[in-house]
Amino acid sequence: MFNIILFGPPGSGKGTQSEWLIKNFGLTHISTGDLLRSEIEAGSEMGIEAKKYIDQGQLLPDKVMIGMIEELLRKNTNTKGYIFDGFPRTVAQAEGLDALFQRLNMELAVLISLDVEEEELKKRLIQRGKVSGRSDDNEVVITQRIKEYLNKTKVVESYYQDQGKLEKVNGIGAIEEISNNISEIVKKYHKE
Ligand code: AMP
Repeated sequence: MFNIILFGPPGSGKGTQSEWLIKNFGLTHISTGDLLRSEIEAGSEMGIEAKKYIDQGQLLPDKVMIGMIEELLRKNTNTKGYIFDGFPRTVAQAEGLDALFQRLNMELAVLISLDVEEEELKKRLIQRGKVSGRSDDNEVVITQRIKEYLNKTKVVESYYQDQGKLEKVNGIGAIEEISNNISEIVKKYHKE
């Protein structure tokens, strides 16, 4: 199994690059943001709770997120591997994922971090808000989401760097060029 984390601030292109990786490497996509939005659409109890956090640009509690990932991984074992997109977002989540991998006899190959500066992120997210219909793609919530990223998420990079599993990619430029750079990294870590 080949498991990777696609990491980066909101608006860094994780979703776009995940699509490309799914097509080219046949991996299964786990986007916690997408999962939570489907829960909201379904009107589930989890969705109602999640909306309160999402609409304020706040992260959901770690326990809830780790529980969600555990349930998914236990259900879907028939895959070449996973792309985690939007998880882990805190060191506690990263530790939870490590523990879970150990229990399930799985391993993380690499975390690929998309590097994009703050002004560009804001510009992209405001632009996306015009078409995405997402309740959190507006200026006030965008600012809060970036703040959460800087306060709680960015440090996750160092967590994986300490394990020798961090690879950084410039997230600014043509989409194909970024995909190619990611692809080179994936090939480097992918052992058949
Ligand atoms: P995303 O689509 O990844 O930008 O996520 C949208 C929102 O969902 C975030 O701003 C958080 O409120 C929530 N969310 C998604 N993933 C996580 C996570 N791993 N931990 C906590 N909250 C999350």
